[in-house]
Amino acid sequence: MKAVRIHQFGGPEVLTYEDVPDPQPRKDQFLIRVRACALNHLDLWVRKGLPGVKLPHILGSDIAGEVVESGEYVSGFKPGQRVLIAPMHYCGHCAACVAGVQNQCREFTVLGNTVDGGNCELIAVPPANVIPIPDALDFNQAASVPLVFLTAWHMLVGRAGVRPGQTVLVLGASSGVGIAAIQIAKLFHCRVITTAGDAPKLEKARALGADLGIDHYKQKISDEVRKITNKEGVDIVVEHVGAATWDESVRSLKAGGTLVTCGATTGPNVGVDLRHLFARQLSLLGSYMGTMGELHEVLKHVFAGRLKPVVDRAFPLKDLRAAHDHMEKSQMFGKIVVNP
Ligand SMILES: [Zn+2]
Repeated sequence: MKAVRIHQFGGPEVLTYEDVPDPQPRKDQFLIRVRACALNHLDLWVRKGLPGVKLPHILGSDIAGEVVESGEYVSGFKPGQRVLIAPMHYCGHCAACVAGVQNQCREFTVLGNTVDGGNCELIAVPPANVIPIPDALDFNQAASVPLVFLTAWHMLVGRAGVRPGQTVLVLGASSGVGIAAIQIAKLFHCRVITTAGDAPKLEKARALGADLGIDHYKQKISDEVRKITNKEGVDIVVEHVGAATWDESVRSLKAGGTLVTCGATTGPNVGVDLRHLFARQLSLLGSYMGTMGELHEVLKHVFAGRLKPVVDRAFPLKDLRAAHDHMEKSQMFGKIVVNP
């Protein structure tokens, strides 16, 4: 099959479109033909070099495609059936996995991180990862869903315990997690404040349901939040930007508020003023991906059309370097997808 592999870590130039052997599915796996694979910031981190990544390596976490064949021990899908793939790998039998918290499994990893991903034509996966998709969702849309909608659902619902009527600040409206978090918070009838780097992006965020937008290059986030909330602050901040926005995010919380973070795109080292943490009774929570149960929960809303993936642009798989370049320049609103 054709695939894009990296043989060394580095810039987009290390992405190499080449022939590789077809995967040989085990008897307990399905073989899936990849029709679309969405990019995430994780692809950039892995390409630049992360511990545990063995070379050569295939990137790509979010996959939609068609069932090609079923191993001897698995059934339930017909050849040609349209599916998406749960973007994670876990052991399936440890205490965490059987308790349904696969994202706490010691073997847990995201597809395309320390196991091969979907920047290729064929992939073999176990049955729990294969989820049928409705006809209304095309492959590019379906591939744009799993990682970011699961991440945002786990942050807001699983970790922060969002409740109807709360005020939620979502950082980075144009990112995949931002787009998902805005819509999930609106599903819970929250008031949503979001941030973006220009007026057209803020306009698109409003179209997704955001009530108020802050231009994070022209305005100070916490000042605007204080104005909007009558000096009270927000119940929940959805953080994934990291060092560049952390202080503003913490300042935007109301007393008793919760900051939940899933990323550090602009850097991992931030300060915490313990006097603010205890006196204002803040909760600072970490969140990583989500559980299989949560994936099915959020997908129900996507399949019913209540949550909508946003596709920015599709590239042919052979042009993956251009797709990475597009992502690194942060020009997108929504997901970048490649098609084998
Ligand atoms: Zn496990």
